[in-house]
Amino acid sequence: CGIVGYIGFREAWPIVLKGLKRLEYRGYDSAGIALLNKGDLNIYKKAGKVKELEQYAEGKDLDGTVAMGHTRWATHGAPSDRNSHPHTSNSGKLSIIHNGIIENYATIKEELLSRGHQFTSETDTEVLIHLVEEIYNNHDIDLFEAVRLALNEVNGAYAIVIMDKEQPDQLIVARKGSPMVIGVGKGEYFIASDATPIVEYTNNVIYLNDNEIALIKRDDLTVKRLDNVIQTPYVQELELKL
Ligand code: GLU
Repeated sequence: CGIVGYIGFREAWPIVLKGLKRLEYRGYDSAGIALLNKGDLNIYKKAGKVKELEQYAEGKDLDGTVAMGHTRWATHGAPSDRNSHPHTSNSGKLSIIHNGIIENYATIKEELLSRGHQFTSETDTEVLIHLVEEIYNNHDIDLFEAVRLALNEVNGAYAIVIMDKEQPDQLIVARKGSPMVIGVGKGEYFIASDATPIVEYTNNVIYLNDNEIALIKRDDLTVKRLDNVIQTPYVQELELKL
């Protein structure tokens, strides 16, 4: 339902938490945030309101300058802590948040189960991050390419953010049929499913197009189409002010 992400030089937790609150108007049943910090991937997620997530996370390790957060509107799997996003891959190294629906998740899940994958949720989302890892592990390619190949295998609508514990200086985002905005700062990027969480930080935004995938580092942005053609992102200025 709602997506917020940050990569830069500031503490990411307060930015992402505040962003999720700005997206609350859309309605949701669960909330979660993943943080990358010094080789750790810390995930906090809960059924209920963002406020409950905030209370649950109080006193825990919330450090890190890379994070992604999600408010879920359950489509596959009941609202619960376990079904809340972020979800992780089989090894636990990769993590994903997702808006939308992966239509062919059941077929993919069956295949992955036969290859020994173990799932901890009933969501379509968890299947996608397991598929990414399966492709990543079985080919001599980088994660960006593995995500691109995985997305070529799925049907449905999505906006996703993916992080890798072993590559803590990047985020991968993609969209098809579900909006995704990238806010461009100096040495930092903001990500959100609509511009409302971004406007207080920057007016320079890129609206990712359908079938595009982006590799975001603090000082660098690469955008490709799912068919592997490099795109030149168009940065536009938002009129919106808070
Ligand atoms: N289909 C996913 C789920 O049920 C994502 C739903 C959403 O857009 O929040 O977990």
